Amino acid sequence: MAVERTLILAKADAVVRGLVGEVLARFERRGYTILGLKLMQVTRDQAQRHYAEHDGKPFFAGLVDYITATPIVAFVIEGEDVIEGARSTIGATNPIKATPGTIRGDYGQTIGRNLVHGSDSPESAAREIAIFFRDDELFARAHTLGDWIAAK
Ligand code: UDP
Ligand code: MG
Repeated sequence: MAVERTLILAKADAVVRGLVGEVLARFERRGYTILGLKLMQVTRDQAQRHYAEHDGKPFFAGLVDYITATPIVAFVIEGEDVIEGARSTIGATNPIKATPGTIRGDYGQTIGRNLVHGSDSPESAAREIAIFFRDDELFARAHTLGDWIAAK
C-alpha cells in the first residue's frame, strides 16, 4: 500500500452530457482526496504530449481531436493505491467490455469516445499531472474541520 496521486480527466462526453459531477462523485465516494481541479481547454500540444505513448497508432489523431473538442475537467486525486483503484472505478478500456457499475460500463458506448481518463502507473501519473497542473495549483490534503475550528 502506498499513498499515490493520479490524474483523472472528464472529457467531452462527460462535460457535454452533464456527467462531470457523476464522475467526480464516484472518486469522492471512494474516499479519495481532491488536490486539484479545473475546467480547461486542452491545447493540441498538451494532447499530443499526454497521449505520446499512442503516437503512430491508428486512433491517435482521433484521440487528440476528442480531448481538444470541448473544454474538459481535469483533476488530481490522492489516496492509498489510487492509481489502480481509480482504474477499477473507471473500467476497461473498451466500454463494451467494461463491467456495469464502472464509469465506462455505465456511460460509454464506443472506445474512441471514452469519457474519462486515469493514469496507468506512478510514472505516467507524475508525467501527466505535470502536463495539466502547475505545482501551485495542487493543494495539500485538506485539514479536518476539527483542526480548522481548533485553530480559530
Ligand atoms: N483507444 C482507441 N482504440 C484502441 C485503443 C485505445 O480508440 O484500440 C482510445 C481509448 O479512448 C482509450 C485511449 O485511446 O481510452 C487511450 O488508450 P489506452 O490504451 O491508454 O487506454 P486507457 O488507459 O484509457 O484505458
Ligand atoms: Mg492509458
